[in-house]
Amino acid sequence: VASPVWREFDKSRLYTADLESALHYLLRVELASHKSLAGEELKTLKDFISLVAKLFPGRPPVRKLLEMLQEWLASLPLDRIPYDAVLDLVNNKMRISGIFLTNQVKWVGCQGSRPELRGYPCALWKLLHTLTVEAGARPDALVGTGFEGNPQAVLQTMRRYIHTFFGCRECAEHFEAMARESLDAVKTSDQAVLWLWRKHNVVNSRLAGHLSEDPSFPKAPWPSPDLCAACHEEVKGVDTWQEGQVLAFLKWHYSRANVLDTYSS
Ligand code: FAD
Repeated sequence: VASPVWREFDKSRLYTADLESALHYLLRVELASHKSLAGEELKTLKDFISLVAKLFPGRPPVRKLLEMLQEWLASLPLDRIPYDAVLDLVNNKMRISGIFLTNQVKWVGCQGSRPELRGYPCALWKLLHTLTVEAGARPDALVGTGFEGNPQAVLQTMRRYIHTFFGCRECAEHFEAMARESLDAVKTSDQAVLWLWRKHNVVNSRLAGHLSEDPSFPKAPWPSPDLCAACHEEVKGVDTWQEGQVLAFLKWHYSRANVLDTYSS
């Protein structure tokens, strides 16, 4: 097997290719194992797609596709649909111009040193962080969705998506346990951004040294001092987070303005 060409990237930036590859994988691979969707499962998918349609920080053809999918799901009179109907829509069989989602994965900031490492779970994390940051930055985007004014809505919706659909079942159970324990305490959109950051670091520390760890990308508390020096302070010899600085850093790092289209055709 020829090894793919390594794509140079800047770890302080996000890449359209990772975010769009995550959506492709989510819609065409992860969901495909659910041959038909009904009841709570269907509701969870509808809610998650509405959220992504409103907040995805990507290019217009993908945003339009998400909008079309969201409108179609919202208008369905049925309470059970076959997955293939979702796939037809995602594949845009009607070939409406200006509506398109890549149909292959191309990892950039989520490349692994071996093909089985990183990739989708990495890009899903990035997608989830962008959603919490975008929801805080553009609360108006959620008007009319039923999510407006609810600071927990984004996290609760992603929690339900992960619990129902995330292919890594062990990850889904771990995430659900963390959500059950502390998600209720989130009262503002800033707290939502920080909650996801904190829990992601809990996962990082649990997985340090684990078989799934890419040796070229060791798990460590994030952001490291080289990404955000101001996020760290030494208090009595112990490295301590400066949460105000972390919040400001997250709002920049996961903003639309930090996304690069390099490597996206
Ligand atoms: P990832 O942890 O995937 O991080 C991706 C990128 O996000 C990093 O490169 C960095 O740029 C940024 N980042 C890192 N930490 C933070 C942070 N704290 N806040 C914001 N951004 C950050 N794997 C398991 O084996 N067991 C599990 O229980 C498990 N649970 C998971 C739960 C969820 C919801 C998800 C999405 C994934 C889970 N995974 C789990 C997969 C695992 O967390 C990693 O995604 C995977 O090992 C790939 O790691 P990575 O090195 O690409 O970095």
